[in-house]
Amino acid sequence: MTAMQGPAWTLKPDTPEDTGRQPLAVETVIGTHAAGLIPGVITTTPHARYLALHARLAIEAQRRGWTNKADLGQFRALVRRAEVVLGAVSVTHGESGDDHHLRAGSFGSHGVNTIRPELDRQRAVEVGRVADAYSRVPGGYLQTYAGIETVLGLTDGGRIPLPGPAADADQLAALDEVLSVSEREKPLSVADLGALRHLCVCAIGDAPDGTCVRNAYFVDRGHLDYARTHRRSAALLVGALTGEQVEVESIDMSMDRWCCFRPGLLELVGEDLHPHALVWRGALLRNWSVWAWRLIWARLVSPLSSTGTLEQAIAEFVRALPDATVREALIDGLPPVIDHAGTPLPVEHDLYEEALDADDWTVLGMLRLLAVGARRLDHLDPVTRDAFVGTFSDDLGPGYVVAWLDRDAERPLADAVSDLAAALFHRAESVSRQKMQWTRYGLRLPTRLRRVGDRWRLEGREGRGAVSLRLPTFTNVMQQLGVVAHDGGTWRPGRHATEVKS
Ligand SMILES: [Zn+2]
Repeated sequence: MTAMQGPAWTLKPDTPEDTGRQPLAVETVIGTHAAGLIPGVITTTPHARYLALHARLAIEAQRRGWTNKADLGQFRALVRRAEVVLGAVSVTHGESGDDHHLRAGSFGSHGVNTIRPELDRQRAVEVGRVADAYSRVPGGYLQTYAGIETVLGLTDGGRIPLPGPAADADQLAALDEVLSVSEREKPLSVADLGALRHLCVCAIGDAPDGTCVRNAYFVDRGHLDYARTHRRSAALLVGALTGEQVEVESIDMSMDRWCCFRPGLLELVGEDLHPHALVWRGALLRNWSVWAWRLIWARLVSPLSSTGTLEQAIAEFVRALPDATVREALIDGLPPVIDHAGTPLPVEHDLYEEALDADDWTVLGMLRLLAVGARRLDHLDPVTRDAFVGTFSDDLGPGYVVAWLDRDAERPLADAVSDLAAALFHRAESVSRQKMQWTRYGLRLPTRLRRVGDRWRLEGREGRGAVSLRLPTFTNVMQQLGVVAHDGGTWRPGRHATEVKS
């Protein structure tokens, strides 16, 4: 099923090296929305307890007087040992058959690939040795989480961070034991680790450090309005997930149904939350168009894996298109995109279902996905429309597609799409040139397409997953904090869901 990765497959859509690659440069609008709607999470920060641990470590550094470059080594050694303890406790608890998975979420523990073999080999974890190996980054996961911890006011994000205004020392004392255990020389046996399960990533929800992290997300602190944003996005998430099946539905699809396609949303969420829901609506709908471009590009270049000309790639791309005009296929042929009350209809989901049933997208399906986005422009309220269009002018947005459909309406579909495909090759080349940089190895062109004489070759495979709006990671953090919960089958509001009512 890897070929079908997208909104329904909410884990990392592409291989790590592909995640940051944006050959058509159409993705920025989604990243901007993600940062605006969920500022306190990035896709690589799924574990709430690391936020607490790093804040606790910042307090520790302050207490020990570690402030300058000379102290950095000692500080990082402590960070690494503490992260190994947290990771080892979590891996052990995850394999204990306890109800860990109900509260920890679906993301693996940090360092699991080093910790698990160690446990398998000797039924114990030697903290110092694993600490040397579990992460190639000097500061361990502190570097990954630092930006988020700054946003949340837990630390100042420094290399030896200072505690931030949200770092409540009394609450964070719940993690004192992680630090003391981490400095023990004796290896931690499976039994030792089992006895520390209250320190697992899944146990933060009702622990004092969980209160600290929830406060960091949700309680206003002066001029920053991130807390209100987090409360609102979390409130929508709880509404979107409640009653949904855990395994069947992806979080993005649930959020789509709630924010984009739910009749009577205003009454359901109230006037206070409604404008925020509409921004989500614009972002979620736009992400389908962005995904369409990514699918189109990946399909267009795929024949070049075995070296060929651009003309050959374009001919292959349009080969199975129907004998119709652009108007027939992509304008008159589209279903309605709103109901009689003006609520968007889930046309994107219908197209996606078709692709799932057929085991892959057809080129016509991808083009229709784009055309639906263009059609929506005329049918959105102003708040949604602004979010949908975004603030970038040259990103193949819905206006670009509208203009293309208008211009080429009466042309045969295959001809018009051939020209569009040629324009995409030009665009990708110019995007790549703009990102070109000198490195110590010479001039580096960030592209997978290489010219070989008058022919081209694709090295590797272009990413074709949807761009992340960070919802899976946000859900994981909220689940660990007890804001959303599930019983293995169905989502429901968590014990602490009342803290996110805006
Ligand atoms: Zn656990």
